Amino acid sequence: MAVRKITEYPAGVLAEVGKPVTEFDDKLAALCDDMFETMYEAEGVGLAAPQIGLNLRLFVMDCEGIKLIAANPQIVATDGEQSSQEGCLSVGKVPAVVVRPQMARLRAQDEKGEWFEREATGYAARAFMHETDHCDGKLFLDHLPKLRREMVIKRFQKEKRWE
Ligand SMILES: [Zn+2]
Repeated sequence: MAVRKITEYPAGVLAEVGKPVTEFDDKLAALCDDMFETMYEAEGVGLAAPQIGLNLRLFVMDCEGIKLIAANPQIVATDGEQSSQEGCLSVGKVPAVVVRPQMARLRAQDEKGEWFEREATGYAARAFMHETDHCDGKLFLDHLPKLRREMVIKRFQKEKRWE
């Protein structure tokens, strides 16, 4: 296992629609191991392949007791509304309030290619949607009003300069 370098905004790969995962082999399992290790090292609750520079529809997460690998993820149902803080490892974890559905149902394939569905509410539902967005080339910034989006980017760039 290895910790990979996290790709940061505004890298192009973060804005690309990921390619479908088609090979469910040892290479994919090893990649998922690396993604988990990278996520834990960065103290995140989810990590998508574009965040380590790979244009692939794949994410891992471990959030509120839901630990899973999701290849070719889709959000197939949502309900309600929640408004809480969210951050992203690719944007220096600078937090911003994002309005999202309260419940989300995820449909995806596991590391063996088996399809599954999983429902979550609250923070874990937020993780489903945030990580699926990454696979579609979207960032949480895209859900923010223009002014707040600019503030988050400015703060992230400022923090980077101090590194
Ligand atoms: Zn993110």
